Amino acid sequence: MTLTVLLHDITGANEAETAFIRESVTLLREAVAMPGFGASIRKADYGGSLWQGMHGKIRALSGDEIWERVHDGREAGTTGDHALNLSIDVADLPGPETANGARPIIGSTQAGQLPIRSARWFVQACMLADDPVNMAAHLMHQWMHVSGFVHGPDGHDSLDAPAVVARLVRRALEYHHGNRINAEITAALIGGDTGCYATTSANLL
Ligand SMILES: [Zn+2]
Repeated sequence: MTLTVLLHDITGANEAETAFIRESVTLLREAVAMPGFGASIRKADYGGSLWQGMHGKIRALSGDEIWERVHDGREAGTTGDHALNLSIDVADLPGPETANGARPIIGSTQAGQLPIRSARWFVQACMLADDPVNMAAHLMHQWMHVSGFVHGPDGHDSLDAPAVVARLVRRALEYHHGNRINAEITAALIGGDTGCYATTSANLL
């Protein structure tokens, strides 16, 4: 069965932001339905793949298990409907100008729960660069948290499952939409200078 993406709602966004996010969701839908996408997830090298079940137990999943959750569209606590279900809240999170020396935060989705929380500064940076591809990659990263994947105690790790699968979304879109990928936005996503608050539930408390 083909995997798809369902966008339920967008909150906290103005009209232009909403239109841009909708375009990014369309690209994410295109990426996850591509023939080679599943194989790329199964075969990728993961520096970490921590996943937290509904009862709090944390374990590392294999590439096959990661693809199984993505392919089934399994948000935490669901059996999956072959769709990545998205509700997106655009939130005022610390950005490059407001983080006061700390890492700017791109996303702060709570592990296992919708909505996805995206930083307004990041949405606006992607809009300014006309880069919906990296926005789609970011949405994939955050959906992984909704499915239960968590970062280690250090926060965002560019080799863990949310980051790697996000990168595979960008790569899947490169051929048809490569001219819209902005290198600076890519660097912000993978460089480790930005953060994501979705660590284990224990860290969120
Ligand atoms: Zn994250």
